[in-house]
Amino acid sequence: MDATVTAAGGRLLEQYLATPLIDSVELNRRQQCIADFIENSSDSRILQASLKKIRDLTRIISRLQNRIRNPRELGAIRDTLNQLPSLLQILVEMEGIAVKELASRINPFDELREILSSSLNDELPSKLEDGGIIKQGYNSDLDYLLSLTTNNKTWISDLERSEQTKTGIKNLKVKFNGTFGYFIEITNSNLHLVPDYYIRKQTTTNSERFYTEELKEKEKEILTAEDRALAQEDKLFKQLVERTLQESNQLLKTAGALAEIDLFLGWAQIALEWNYCRPSLGDDDSLEIEQGRHPVVEQMLRKDLVGIAGSHSFVPNDTWLKSNSDQIALITGPNMAGKSTYIRQVALIALMAQVGSWVPADRCHIGLVDRIFSRVGANDELARGNSTFMVEMNETANIINNSTARSLIILDEIGRGTSTYDGLSIAWAVVEHLHRGPTEGPRTLFATHYHELTKLDQTLSRLRNYCVCVKEWNDQIIFVRQVMPGAADRSYGIQVARLAGLPTSVIDRAKVILNELETEGNVIQEHLFKKKAAKDLAKQKKSLEPESQLSFF
Ligand code: ADP
Repeated sequence: MDATVTAAGGRLLEQYLATPLIDSVELNRRQQCIADFIENSSDSRILQASLKKIRDLTRIISRLQNRIRNPRELGAIRDTLNQLPSLLQILVEMEGIAVKELASRINPFDELREILSSSLNDELPSKLEDGGIIKQGYNSDLDYLLSLTTNNKTWISDLERSEQTKTGIKNLKVKFNGTFGYFIEITNSNLHLVPDYYIRKQTTTNSERFYTEELKEKEKEILTAEDRALAQEDKLFKQLVERTLQESNQLLKTAGALAEIDLFLGWAQIALEWNYCRPSLGDDDSLEIEQGRHPVVEQMLRKDLVGIAGSHSFVPNDTWLKSNSDQIALITGPNMAGKSTYIRQVALIALMAQVGSWVPADRCHIGLVDRIFSRVGANDELARGNSTFMVEMNETANIINNSTARSLIILDEIGRGTSTYDGLSIAWAVVEHLHRGPTEGPRTLFATHYHELTKLDQTLSRLRNYCVCVKEWNDQIIFVRQVMPGAADRSYGIQVARLAGLPTSVIDRAKVILNELETEGNVIQEHLFKKKAAKDLAKQKKSLEPESQLSFF
């Protein structure tokens, strides 16, 4: 989802993703910004190119407020402000109420831009002490001090030539170093020509160093002028920082609008490239997706498959959930069929819609969800010392304890981390619990390999069975990635194992064992299920009996 070109845009994306909304007015505003940028797609590209030249105003202002005095920071503000007129021009010319509103939050800062442009040199040092910050012509005091330095430096460089003529020493040099300042250097062979107004300063192996009263005077003038110029620059720089910070609120507001523009431009670009739709949002309890896709898997597939003949791209699927009628979608299907991908795609589409983005589907309506709960793979937790099963149960407990009828839940293979019957019983009880509300419950997608659970549609009125179907061909399976109403009849585990490269001897042996287990297991399970269904029925009957009969107890 990240097609931002500025740091601030990237931060805003993170912030949005971490704080999805149920405020449909704000979500619609964000969606409309994307729509406007899509409508004006050629201008949007130009806008994005000029955003690339924008610097991180928010960070710079905070550094300036913290008295970090780097002249380049101020230069960055100037460069950013210089981009604003053309950027605003593009925005203002775009059609659309939402972009016009964004444009209205950008201040062109004509005065501040003029001040910074006329005061700061194009190239700036990173340290204030290095000087060379303020442009010539901006401040007459500074100009005078700088001219003093320049004039004196010219006098010194002229001095070399005039002293050479005066003394007849051709290789006489006027030099400068940090310790001794300016001096005249005479090689040992010419020492007999040194005039008596030269005052000895230092002796080296091959030469002697001298100064004159006049040179000393000029040196003092230069150093004082340099110090004074630096102090003057320091003062002017501070004034410029103060002046800039006077506008910090307005600058931050503009920075906020620029970050939004960056983010929405990126989302518009992604929506166009990947054919996303604008979801409709409501306060109802349904979730409808036509031809939904998993945004990440879809992109990975296209990248992986470019140029491979016969390769297929992502298979879109529909979703229909409604708290008071089609509350739980129980999804069965072989491993590798696409169950996880499907349930994650629904959660991602809901999240994308509730941060204001468009979504990977042909059509989508979301009755806004109050939370999205997920119980999916937990690899990261293992490193922290929790067992897979413990993590799974912790997360499931959190879902059960905190979800409401307005929540969206995705549960992937719960119960997998423990023995078959433990796992099945827990999965079974969780589904029942989620369905316990008399008229409605959280919209839930429940992917499972426990086929036994598909029978729950006989007792739970709001549960629907779906399967991710596969095709059988010569004892092989072909994944078609299509989610269809109904329950999967087989798990095809052995076929998937064959695809993964398990040797034929192991596969053949597994088939024999499976046959035996299935014959035994079916009898037991059928028996257990019938017993349980009979018990449930008896319970239901009892609760319907008139109270007078209960008073017997
Ligand atoms: P399961 O959860 O049923 O074991 P996954 O969801 O992990 O299966 O899917 C297995 C692989 O199949 C994924 O890594 C993905 O590459 C591919 N896949 C899943 N769904 C689709 C789809 N709708 N279209 C194309 N490929 C898919």
